Amino acid sequence: MIRPLIAGNWKMNGTSAMLPVVQEVVTGLSARADGADCLICPPATLLERAAKVAQASALAIGAQDCHAKEAGAHTGDLSAEMIADAGGRYVIVGHSERRADHFESSEIVANKAAAAKRAGITPIICVGETLEEREAGRTLEIISDQLAESIPDAVCDGSFVVAYEPVWAIGTGKVATTEQVDEVHNAIRDKLNQRFADAGASVRILYGGSMKPDNAAGLLSLQNVNGGLIGGASLKAADFLAIYDAG
Ligand code: 13P
Repeated sequence: MIRPLIAGNWKMNGTSAMLPVVQEVVTGLSARADGADCLICPPATLLERAAKVAQASALAIGAQDCHAKEAGAHTGDLSAEMIADAGGRYVIVGHSERRADHFESSEIVANKAAAAKRAGITPIICVGETLEEREAGRTLEIISDQLAESIPDAVCDGSFVVAYEPVWAIGTGKVATTEQVDEVHNAIRDKLNQRFADAGASVRILYGGSMKPDNAAGLLSLQNVNGGLIGGASLKAADFLAIYDAG
C-alpha cells in the first residue's frame, strides 16, 4: 500500500491573512489518525512563514515552481535550493498553468524536477491533456509523451510524485469520471513500472482537477490514485481536511 499524499496548491492566492488556514490544517491533522502525508504549496511569498507555522507538525510545505539552475542571473526566479532553505520540502513542476502561461516545455519541466532532486526536495511532476486532445482520442498518447519527457533520469530512484491533472477539469468544476481517472492512472503506473521497475511501483500518482469533499472518496479509492492535488478546495481548511478524511 502506497502512503497517500493530500496536497494543496494555492496557486496565486493568499496573503499573510491566509496563514491561519495553515495553522488550522496543522491543528486538524494533530487531532486525526496519521493516515496520509499532507502538503500545502502556498505562494512563494508565504513559503517561509507557512513553513514556520507547520514546523514539527504533520503538514509539509512546498513551492509551486522552481528554476532549473542553483543560482545566477535569472531575475524573478527561485532555485530549488532557495525553496529548501525556506523550509519547502516539495515543489510542483510542470503545472499546466505554467506550461501554458510561461511556455514551459516538458524538457524544461524535467530540468526543474532534476533541480529539485539536486536540492533534496521532492518534485511533483504534472501531466494532463487538454479537452481538444481528449476529444481527439489522444489522451494516453499525450500523457505517455509528457511522462517520458518531463521525468528526468535523476529521479530513477523513485524520489518524485506524478500528478495527473486533465486541463479541462482544472478550476472548472468538471471532475473527470472515476473511469477516466482509473484508465489514465493505470496507464501512468504501467509507464512508471516499465521505466523504473520497483522504484516506479512506489511512486505516488495524484489526481488533480476539481477535487472536492463530495467527490474525493470515489477518486481516492481507485487503486492507482495515491492522493490528490487540490486547488480551490485547499483554500479552506475545513474542505481540505474533509478531502484528507476521504482518503
Ligand atoms: P482545482 O482543484 O481548483 O480544479 O485545481 C486543480 C489544480 O490545478 C491543482 O494543481
